[in-house]
Amino acid sequence: MGAEDTWVKRLAAFLCPTDGDRERLLELEETLRTPRLLTYVAVAATLVALGPFVGWWLPLLLGGLSALYELIIRRGIQATTHPAMLIVCGFTMNLAVTAIAAALSGGPQSPLLPWLVIPIIALAGRFGSRGVWWGTGMVALAILAVIATDVPAFRHDPAPALVIMPLTIALASFGSALNFAELRQRRASALDPLTGLLNRRSLPDRFGELAEQARLSGEPIALIVLDIDHFKRINDEYGHSRGDTVLREIATALRGELRSFELAYRLGGEEFLIVLPAIDVEHGTGVAERLRRCLAALYPDGVPITASLGVSAGRGDDLAFESLFDAADRALYAAKDAGRDRVCTAGGDGAGDRPDRVANFVR
Ligand code: GH3
Ligand code: MG
Ligand code: MG
Repeated sequence: MGAEDTWVKRLAAFLCPTDGDRERLLELEETLRTPRLLTYVAVAATLVALGPFVGWWLPLLLGGLSALYELIIRRGIQATTHPAMLIVCGFTMNLAVTAIAAALSGGPQSPLLPWLVIPIIALAGRFGSRGVWWGTGMVALAILAVIATDVPAFRHDPAPALVIMPLTIALASFGSALNFAELRQRRASALDPLTGLLNRRSLPDRFGELAEQARLSGEPIALIVLDIDHFKRINDEYGHSRGDTVLREIATALRGELRSFELAYRLGGEEFLIVLPAIDVEHGTGVAERLRRCLAALYPDGVPITASLGVSAGRGDDLAFESLFDAADRALYAAKDAGRDRVCTAGGDGAGDRPDRVANFVR
């Protein structure tokens, strides 16, 4: 069992299932910076005011947590290929420490109980309805855990714990509804309506971020441009609507062949772009060959298809999107010229890498 199988990773994939969700998560980190800062300032000011009454250990504990959160989680989010995992870890840690602080400062009577609800709104912005309801369940568990630390006190005066319930439900349901409205708009603008893959609109920004990380870590990025061969004939022979079904099945197959952090875009028509972080040209050619074989064996909606693919890769100062894309596109045209149904690599001999010459790269 590797890191691939951890519960955190499975939960992160459940909360953040598509490329679009991951894109949104990273973009939101920037937008959420100011509200997060304001929340810290408000919490810090309140803790200082509460210091003489509940003790100074509390500001120290929560202050330490916030510093840790900023240092490890915030910084890690932009650099990791699984940002949702870090957010899940951060949320769980945040909730646990707040619950401990509440348990130590009066249990079911603690003035800190309402703070357990704060992370729900941050989850709503990031993960959508799934995240909100998962977070609400976690908060309910945390409240129950705090109550369990002093059941007689809860029986004596259940009001402080009970009044949080409508607050939790209100934040969760309003957050979820507002989030749904934003998500619908975003899907319309960032995803291709036919295939559900990313469209090219967000590509330059996302590539810029990946290139920045790759420059810092010294890792390469590979691009694959993929074009279905003689697609016009498919439309002519089987009809446009069947052509649409073929495109949808191709997109699903491509997505299924890629790992979660590898990005698949529909550039337009029957042309796709794959962005492979931390993959060099040799392994990128291997991935392209795997995709080529997958499509040749696919028969989407019963229709035989093949594809031609061009691969390029860069590292360090060679990570400008335009030049990498041009190189992959030229390689694609070399593959078309050489007879289609093949992979060509930028800087190759232009004859097209025959399958038997391509590195057999296995995930
Ligand atoms: P080549 O092997 O040179 O790539 O030939 P091709 O026929 O695939 O290339 P060409 O660019 O001449 O034609 C692409 C065709 O893709 C033309 C267009 O009708 C079809 N197409 C573009 N977008 C869509 C779409 O959304 N749905 C369907 N069904 N067809 C589309
Ligand atoms: Mg084509
Ligand atoms: Mg084309």
